Amino acid sequence: MYMLYKSTRGISKKITSPYAILNGIAEDGGLYVPEELPKLDKDIKDLVAYSYQELALYIISLFFPEFSQEELKIAISDAYDESFSDQQITPTVKVGDLYFLELFHGPTLAFKDIALTLLPKLIELSALRDKSKKQPVVLTATSGDTGKAALQGFAGVNGVKIIVFYPEDGVSPIQKLQMITQEGNNTSVIGIKGNFDDAQKGVKELFKNEPLKEKLADKGYFFTSANSINIGRLVPQVVYYFYSYLSLLRNKEIQPGEEINFAVPTGNFGDIFAGYYAKLMGLPVNKLICASNENNVLYHFFNNGIYDSRRELKTTTSPSMDILISSNLERLLYEISERDSEATKNLMEELSQKGFYKLTDKIKAGLKDFYSNFALEEEVASTIYSLYKSTGYLMDTHTAVAYSVLKKYKEDCKDSTKTVILSTASPFKFSKALCSALDIELSEKDIFEASYKLSEASGIPIPKAIEELKEKPILHKASCTPEEMKIKVQNILNI
Ligand SMILES: *Cc1c(COP(=O)(O)O)cnc(C)c1O
Repeated sequence: MYMLYKSTRGISKKITSPYAILNGIAEDGGLYVPEELPKLDKDIKDLVAYSYQELALYIISLFFPEFSQEELKIAISDAYDESFSDQQITPTVKVGDLYFLELFHGPTLAFKDIALTLLPKLIELSALRDKSKKQPVVLTATSGDTGKAALQGFAGVNGVKIIVFYPEDGVSPIQKLQMITQEGNNTSVIGIKGNFDDAQKGVKELFKNEPLKEKLADKGYFFTSANSINIGRLVPQVVYYFYSYLSLLRNKEIQPGEEINFAVPTGNFGDIFAGYYAKLMGLPVNKLICASNENNVLYHFFNNGIYDSRRELKTTTSPSMDILISSNLERLLYEISERDSEATKNLMEELSQKGFYKLTDKIKAGLKDFYSNFALEEEVASTIYSLYKSTGYLMDTHTAVAYSVLKKYKEDCKDSTKTVILSTASPFKFSKALCSALDIELSEKDIFEASYKLSEASGIPIPKAIEELKEKPILHKASCTPEEMKIKVQNILNI
């Protein structure tokens, strides 16, 4: 069995999924999409008894049939093992009349773990099929969450090396500590004297550097990427939309066939787009509620059909959503234009040349499955406070953006459809912002103080992944200027 993948921008070459996973991005700059979206060959209610791992095997096999059932089964059971603190991997928790799909029980306490615990195994399996037999080197720039999740996922994976660049002064102290204490002799972590854009730009230049790529090839290496446009990151995220729906069915919260909404805190549009694929595959979804923070480019896009990135990026308490260009949106443009690659390519070219584009009325009509709004910083804080005071449930800042927007949706649309809120990070990952929302005073002496105070106030124990950090030795001390990134990579690979 096989399934071909093609670019959203129309280059004629079609490739199988292992190559789509290894390449990350198509030659014409487009994103890989399956030639035809797979269809379920089982009834949704027949999947109710599936464990998370069984469901993942079923859904991921539909997208990546080149891997054998046995290979995928092992990869999935290795990814979703006891490194997740909840046996259900992504439990849906009922709080009053709200449902939270908790995606933060993985090793680094954020939703990125769901894809980044599995992607390394998919890359390893893909590299085995690659006729060139070269060794993948994963090169990543991070603003925090992705870097740690990728390091954790790739640590110890055979035949793959990972190099992560982070802005020395642009990540939270906990995020930095998480990265520089990373174990695994195939991992390298380097601080950049600069901001996230400098790190990102530097990595992009390395990817384009032809002499460097030739040198790499001579030594049997090639660069690959673990960022959120990789189809190997998107597909594992489709699973939890089904799993959450099935959990509600199992608990008799909904009837078979009943439609539900999902409210998703959105940055790069990867998480919510996986929900759109789930809907296209037949999951009964009414609306996908796209929630932004004060960086609300997507709010304007969904409401007037104009994507305009010409503005200043704001720093908010939900940093993983501080994004002006949501790269996975390209896949949505492709679907809503009825898979018109010419139209998609033109829009993306306009965006890169002019900083904005406007949809035609015909394409804009395809946005009807979405509702979008945004939350101001004070709304995020007051939502955290009021839910905690009324129920004792702690949610992180990203999740609070989604809940704030859900409240606006209910007011605007008077829709009583049951809605699942995607909870993307542990509240302890953003302890400082939570303490501030809950009026807990901090002395700023110790980076663990906020976690302790939050735990004390809520009675919820500090997650092990944070507690352990205090004891771990610092293993990565390297730092460099953006200009020195190339030489650092050459030194690490000995080329
Ligand atoms: C990455 C991230 C998001 C945004 O997800 P996208 O797929 O980029 O839209 C939301 N919350 C947290 C905690 C994240 O790490």
